[in-house]
Amino acid sequence: METSLIDFEEQARHLDKPVSFLVVDDEKRARESLIGLLQRSWTDITEAEDGDQAIGLIQKRQFNLIILDLNMPRKSGDQVLSFIRDQRLTTPVIVISGEASLNKVTEAMRLGAYDIFKKPYNFDELEHAIRNALDRSRIEEEKSQIQSRLKHSEQLHRYMVDNSPDLIYILDLTGKFTFVNDSVTRLLGYDKTDLIGKHYSEFVIEEDHLKAEYVFNERRRESRSNRNIELRLKCNPLDPERPFEVTTCPIELNSMGIYSVDSKEKKVVGSYQGTYGVARDISSRKEAEKLITYQAYHDLLTKLPNRAMLYDRLDLAIKQAKRTSEALIVMFIDLDRFKLINDSFGHVVGDQLLIEVAERLKTEIRTGDTLARLGGDEFMLLLPQPTSRAQAERVAQKLITSMQQPFFLKNKEVYVNVSIGISVYPDDSSDINTLVKNADMAMYEVKSSGKNGFIFYNDKLEHAAAEKISIESGLRNAIKNDELEMFYQPQIDMQTEQIVGVEALLRWNHPKLGLRSPNYFIAHAEESSIIDQLTEWVLNRVAVDLFSDKTFLESEIKVSVNLSATDIRQKEFPENLVAYIEDLHIKPNRLEIEITENMFMSDIQSCIYKLQVLSNKGISIAIDDFGTGYSSLNYLRELPVHTVKIDYSFVSEIEHSKKGAALVAAIVGMAQGLGINVIAEGVESTAQSEYLDSLGCHIMQGFLFGRPVAVNDFLGAVNKQQAISSSLSKG
Ligand code: C2E
Ligand code: MG
Ligand code: MG
Repeated sequence: METSLIDFEEQARHLDKPVSFLVVDDEKRARESLIGLLQRSWTDITEAEDGDQAIGLIQKRQFNLIILDLNMPRKSGDQVLSFIRDQRLTTPVIVISGEASLNKVTEAMRLGAYDIFKKPYNFDELEHAIRNALDRSRIEEEKSQIQSRLKHSEQLHRYMVDNSPDLIYILDLTGKFTFVNDSVTRLLGYDKTDLIGKHYSEFVIEEDHLKAEYVFNERRRESRSNRNIELRLKCNPLDPERPFEVTTCPIELNSMGIYSVDSKEKKVVGSYQGTYGVARDISSRKEAEKLITYQAYHDLLTKLPNRAMLYDRLDLAIKQAKRTSEALIVMFIDLDRFKLINDSFGHVVGDQLLIEVAERLKTEIRTGDTLARLGGDEFMLLLPQPTSRAQAERVAQKLITSMQQPFFLKNKEVYVNVSIGISVYPDDSSDINTLVKNADMAMYEVKSSGKNGFIFYNDKLEHAAAEKISIESGLRNAIKNDELEMFYQPQIDMQTEQIVGVEALLRWNHPKLGLRSPNYFIAHAEESSIIDQLTEWVLNRVAVDLFSDKTFLESEIKVSVNLSATDIRQKEFPENLVAYIEDLHIKPNRLEIEITENMFMSDIQSCIYKLQVLSNKGISIAIDDFGTGYSSLNYLRELPVHTVKIDYSFVSEIEHSKKGAALVAAIVGMAQGLGINVIAEGVESTAQSEYLDSLGCHIMQGFLFGRPVAVNDFLGAVNKQQAISSSLSKG
C-alpha cells in the first residue's frame, strides 16, 4: 500500500508533539527524584500522588507513558492497571514497586504492565525500557492507523464497485462467479446470489458462446488483455420489473487474468487465480446505432428502404441469381404528374400522397421483394425470386390497377397513375447500374408514349432516349430560330355548309426533319417545362393571325386552341389566361380551349373551379379526344363543358364495325342528353359524315372538309365564305 503525502504530514505532526508522562507515586521524594531524572530528556511530565488522582488524570487526557507505583493509598497500582485495561487504552505502563514478590509481578504483567522495576532501580535501565515502550507504542499506533486507513479504503472501493454502473465480476479457475457487484440486479434482474458459484455460460446467449469463451477465459493482463468485446447476456426471465420484450442485455466486456502476488516482493508470481472483468451496459448505444443504421438504409418519409439498401439487396440478388442461373426483375416506378400535384396542393399533401402510394404499392408485393423509394416520386421494385417476364407483367399490372382508386388528401379526391419501366437480369444486363438505368429508360418511354403503363427495356429505347434529349434541346431553339408554325383546320356545320370553327394546330418546322406534328414533341415539351413557352407562342400567333384580321373578326367563327395538362395544373391558370388573352385582344367568346379527359384525373375539384372561371368569362371549353380517357362520364355533369370532340379512333370505326357505329351513336346521344355540342374529328369519308349527320352530329372536322393549312389559305376560305354570304344577303 502506498503512503500518500497527507499521511506523511499527519505523522510529522504526531512526532512534533512532546512525549507526555504521568508519574504516579505516593512517596513524594521518590516521585520528585524520578521526575528530575526524566526532565533531562523530556519536558511534559504530570504527577499524581495516588491511584484516584491518577485515574482522574487518565480520564482527562491521553499520556504516552505511565510510570506507576503499586502500593498506594486510595486505589493501588493494580487498580489503576485494571482501569486502563477496562478502558482499552493502549498507553504503556511501567511499574516501579518496592515489592518484588512473584505474585505481585505476575499480577501486574497479567493486567497489562509493559515492564516492572524494583526499587531502587537503575535509571539507565529504566530509561532504556521507557524508550522501548515509546517505540513500541508508536509502532502500534502507526499500525492501527494503517489498519483503519486500510479499512476505510476497502470500504471506499467496495462502495465504488457496488455503485458502479458497470457489472464487475470475478471468475474462478473453472469459470464460475466468485464475486459480482450490485449492478447485476439492475442490468440483468438477477440477485447477486443467483450468480455466485454458477458458470458464466449460463448467462450468455447461445449465439455468443464461442466469443464468450474466448473473452471470459482471459488469462492475459493489462494492455494485452481483451478490450471492449461485445456480447449479449441473458436477463432474468422471472424478473417482474423487466419489460416482457427485454430478454437480453448487450454489454461491452473488458477482462483480464488474476495472478497471485508475492506480498514481500510485490511481484506477480506465476499462479493463475481466475479472471476479473467489467461489463458495460451498451443498450442505449446499440439503440442509437440501430437508429443510425435505420436512417442510413431507409427513406424517412415512407419508411421504405432507400437507394443504398436497394443496391445492397440488388447486389446480393444478382450474386444469388448468378449461382442459380435464374432471372430477376427490376422495376422503375414513377408517379405521373407528381410535380403538378405538389405545385397545386403544396408539399405537405405531396408528401402524404407519397406515403399513401408507398403503402398501396407495398400491399401488392411479396415479402421477399424489395420496394424502395429512390427520392422524389421515384420508386424501385426488386423481384429477386426466380421470376419470368410473364410474372413481372402481372406484378406491374397489379401495381397500375392499385392506383385506379382515388387518394383522399385534405378531403380532396386525387388520382395518380404510375409509369413503370422493367429490366430483366441477365437479358438486359448483369450489372447493377445498367439494370437500373435500363429500367429508368423504359419508364421514360412509358411517360413519353402517354404515361400510365409499363414497358420492358429493349434496344430501341437507347435510340428513343437519345432522341428525347435531341428533341428537348431542339425545341429550346425552335422558338428562338422561328421554327414554329401554326396550321388551321376548319370545322364545318353540315346543315349550313359553313365554317363555324377552326382548330389551331401547332407544327415544328424541324431544320433536318421538316414539318413535325405535335405528337412528336408535345410530351417532351410537357416534361421539360418548355410547354409554357409553346402555349404562349400559340396564343400570340392566333391573336396575330386571326384576331387582327378584319374578315375573321366580322365572322362568328370560333377558334379552338389545344392546352396541355401542365398549363391547367398551374395554380393561377384561369386568371393568367384571362389576363393574357385580354392583352392580346382575343375575344373570349370567340375562343374555345381543348383539353383532354386525363387532365382532370388528379384533381377534379380544382379543375371544376378553374374551368368555371374561364366559362364565366365567356370562354368555351371542349373535351378533346372524348372517349379515349379513363375518367367516368360523371364529370361531364359537374364540369362546365360546352363541347365534346369525338375522337378520330371512333369515327374511323363507323364504316368498319357495327360496334364502332353504335359507340359513336351513344356518345352523340349522351351529349345531346346533357345539352352539350358535339364535334366529330377526323372525318374522312362521306359515309362517315352522312352517318354522323343522321345522328344529329352536324359539326365536323377532317380531311374530307379540309386539312390543316397555313393561315393565309384558311383566311382565303373565310373570305370566300363571307363574300358569298354577304352577296346572298344583298341578293
Ligand atoms: P387533336 O387536338 O385531337 O387534333 C386533331 C388531330 O387530328 C390533328 O393532328 C389533325 O391534324 C388530325 N386530323 C384532322 N383531321 C384528320 C383526319 O381526317 N384524319 C386523320 N387521320 N387525322 C386528322 P395534329 O395536328 O398532328 O395534332 C396532334 C395533337 O397534338 C392534337 O390532337 C393535339 O392534342 C395536340 N396539339 C396540336 N396543337 C397543339 C398545341 O398548340 N398545343 C398543345 N398543347 N397541343 C397541341
Ligand atoms: Mg384538339
Ligand atoms: Mg382530338
